[in-house]
Amino acid sequence: KEVPAKPSLTFRESSFSYDAERFELGPINAHVEAGSHAAVIGRSGSGKSTMLQLVSGLLPVKGDLLINGEPLSVYKEESWYSQLAYVTQHPYLFSGTLRENIILGTPEYVGTDLDAAVEKAGLTEVVEQLPDGLETLVGEGGRGLSGGEKQRVALARAFMKKPTFLLFDEPTTGLDVKTEQVLQRSIEELSRNATVLTVAHRLHTIKKADQILLLENGRVHASGSHDEL
Ligand code: ATP
Ligand code: MG
Repeated sequence: KEVPAKPSLTFRESSFSYDAERFELGPINAHVEAGSHAAVIGRSGSGKSTMLQLVSGLLPVKGDLLINGEPLSVYKEESWYSQLAYVTQHPYLFSGTLRENIILGTPEYVGTDLDAAVEKAGLTEVVEQLPDGLETLVGEGGRGLSGGEKQRVALARAFMKKPTFLLFDEPTTGLDVKTEQVLQRSIEELSRNATVLTVAHRLHTIKKADQILLLENGRVHASGSHDEL
C-alpha cells in the first residue's frame, strides 16, 4: 500500500527502550493531524530525538504508529521512505561522492532537481570550493565536512525528496548565523506541504507550531498550543 499524500500520524501506546533498566520512551499517545506541524520540546535526555527516530522507522516500536489510522507496517517500506525526510542533529555521510550523498533515496531525479536542492540548502558555495565539486568524495575515507555543512547536505537530501512527512531535529547551538538562516528558511519551505514533527528549541518554531508536545522522562507530560501551555 502507498502512503497517502497527506499523512496524519498517531502514536497509540507507542514505546521503545534501548535497555529496559535505563531509559524508556513512552508509552506515548499523541496525534498529529495531516498537514499540521507539531513541536516536541523537553529537557536534554527527555527522549525527543528517540521519538523522531521511532517515526523514521529506525527503531523497533512497541505498540502502534498509525499513518492515517493504519499501522505503518501496512504500507510499503519504500513508499514511506520516499515520502519521509529526516533532518537529524548529526546527519550521517557515507563514503561516496557528495552527489551520491545528496540523491540518497531519490532514484529518479533530474539534474535540475539536484541543482535546486544544492542551491536551496545553501551548498552552492561549498560545492564550488570542493576540488571536484559534487563528485568530491566525502564521508568516511573522503573529505570531512563541518557540522553546518553536514546539516545542509541533510537539507539538500530533503529538498530532493519533496517530502510529505518531515522530521526535523532542530540543532541546539553551534551553527553559524548563515547556516541557521538557511536552515530556518528551508525548513519553512519544506514544511509548507508536509506534516511535520520537529524537535524545537527556538521560541519562533514553538510559537508557530499547531501543537506542542512536552516530553518528560520519555512521556508526553503536556500537549496543546503555545497559548494553552
Ligand atoms: P537532547 O535534547 O540532548 O538532544 P533528547 O531529548 O533528544 O536530548 P534522546 O537522545 O532521545 O534525548 O535520549 C533519551 C535517553 O535515551 C537518554 O537518557 C539517552 O542517554 C538515551 N539514549 C539515546 N540514544 C541511545 C542509544 N543509542 N543507546 C542507549 N541509550 C541511548
Ligand atoms: Mg536530541
